[in-house]
Formats: sequence, structure tokens, C-alpha cells
Amino acid sequence: MSGPPLENRVTSTSGNHADNNTATYSATDSAPPAADGSSGAASTGDLPAVELLLDGARAGYRTIEVLHGITMAIPSGAVTALLGANGAGKSTTLRVLAGLIPLRGGTLSWRGEQITKMTTTNRAKRGLMLVPDERAVFATLSVRDNLQVIAEASGHPDITPALEAFPRLQERLNQRAGSMSGGERRMLALARALLARPSVLMVDELSLGLSPKVAGELFAWLGTVADAGTTVILADQYTEEALALADMVYVLHRGEITFAGTPAELGASELLAAGAHS
Ligand code: ATP
Repeated sequence: MSGPPLENRVTSTSGNHADNNTATYSATDSAPPAADGSSGAASTGDLPAVELLLDGARAGYRTIEVLHGITMAIPSGAVTALLGANGAGKSTTLRVLAGLIPLRGGTLSWRGEQITKMTTTNRAKRGLMLVPDERAVFATLSVRDNLQVIAEASGHPDITPALEAFPRLQERLNQRAGSMSGGERRMLALARALLARPSVLMVDELSLGLSPKVAGELFAWLGTVADAGTTVILADQYTEEALALADMVYVLHRGEITFAGTPAELGASELLAAGAHS
């Protein structure tokens, strides 16, 4: 493993989105949730709350260990980017956070509460939402039905906010999702996420297969989501857009964290490890 040793702390940022000043906080300093159930970021004075804390997380598939004991504190109401090359373990980390694969070691807490063994369904009910890099929409349903299903499940059946956020979907309401372009399916997946009103939105490979223009639109949209107070976690290979959006960056390399800090703190070697071209 290259890069500096990661201590059990992260440095928050001056922040594109988090309403905080620069502050270093311990991963064990998870702030309690606010009385109204919100993230409590404002309740800790200058320190941002830790939304999710992975501590010594080990996970993998069958006999293969992919994450080798990573510790990661995700700040509340900010954008965290998980960067790294193919196979680094970014998607696996998101799956662990969503509860799709179990931890083999270590713990996960959410606003200070242990959720290591909480089911995926219960995490989703509480507002943890993953938009995976594929199969994120019902291919055989129309765009309208894809939106309606999730809007009704969230208790707010009006799909207008999704159409306002992604006007292109308005023109496609009766089209089967499976027959849309990759970019449109991605928009639909994000529109569904919007209607679910998550408190934590995790997006895997936002820019995968998209034109720079569409990717730029989707990154901009994610910025507005974070500005509204949602905690955003973005797993991607290195892109300028991901870096511009991020308040906090973790670089993964072969299942270990080789960098944790602000985009401004990323050095040339970490940028290369994150997938940037020299
Ligand atoms: P990419 O950008 O290529 O998706 P990533 O950083 O998201 O990379 P992961 O998808 O988490 O990486 O994969 C990490 C390792 O786990 C890789 O070696 C991959 O082959 C392996 N892996 C991922 N999914 C599975 C699976 N369902 N079964 C077995 N191995 C898997």
C-alpha cells in the first residue's frame, strides 16, 4: 500500500456543500442526531457530524476479501467522493453501507447508532439509498410507473419534483425504461432517488457511459441535492467533476484507503492512484 497511513480521523472541509468551517474531527466523535432527527451537523458547533462511520471494515465475496479493514467517516450534509481505479473496492464499500453485503469484520454506525447488522430494507426505510451503476430502474415499466411506484412508497405521490429536476423525463413518460438511452436511465434512477427523499444518497459511477454534457448535468444536480442538506456519497473513477463537487475524498487502492482528506489536499501521487491521467 502506498500513501500516508490513515489515522482514525478525517479532516472536514471548508466545504462546497457542508455548512462548516475547516475542522478536524475524530472518527469516534460521532455527533448525536438533532432532536428533529436531522443530521445534527449544526448542533455540534464548528464540527460536522459524522453521518456514517465504517470502522475496520472487512468484506468480500465468497473466499475473496476485498476490503481489508477500512475506516471511513462520512460527514453529514456534504459530498464524499470515493475514488480509485477499477477493482479498488468502491462499489463494494457502497454495498456494505447499503447492507447488500455483510461485514466480515469491523462495524458500521449511522449517526452514532450501530447498524452493522441492520437489514438493507430497514436502512432504506430510514433513508439510506443506493443508486447502483446498473439495474437501477424497472426496465419493463414506463418512466411514469417507475416514478409513481417510488413516489407512492415514500408517501408523497406527486412525481412533479422529479420532472422539474429532469425535464427530459417529461417527454418520455410513456416510454419503457428499458428502451431509453443509458443517460436517460441514469436520470430516471436519480429521479427515483429524489422522490424517495433519502437522507443519505449513494451513487455508484454516475458518469459511467455518459456524454460529458449529460454527466455534467447530473453532477450539477447532485450538487443541488447536497446543498439541500442530503449527505451524498459518490463512487467514481477520477473525474474533474467528482473532485469539484466533493467536500471530502477517500482514495481506495486494492481494498485499502490510501488517502483521506479534502480535494485540495490531494497530491499528484494520490491523483494518479485515484485514476487521473498524468
Ligand atoms: P469498478 O470501478 O471497476 O466497479 P470498484 O472500485 O467499484 O471498481 P468493486 O466493484 O468493489 O471495485 O470490486 C472490487 C473487487 O471485488 C474486484 O476485484 C472485483 O472483481 C470483486 N468483485 C466485485 N463484485 C463481485 C462479486 N459480485 N463477486 C465476486 N467478486 C466481486
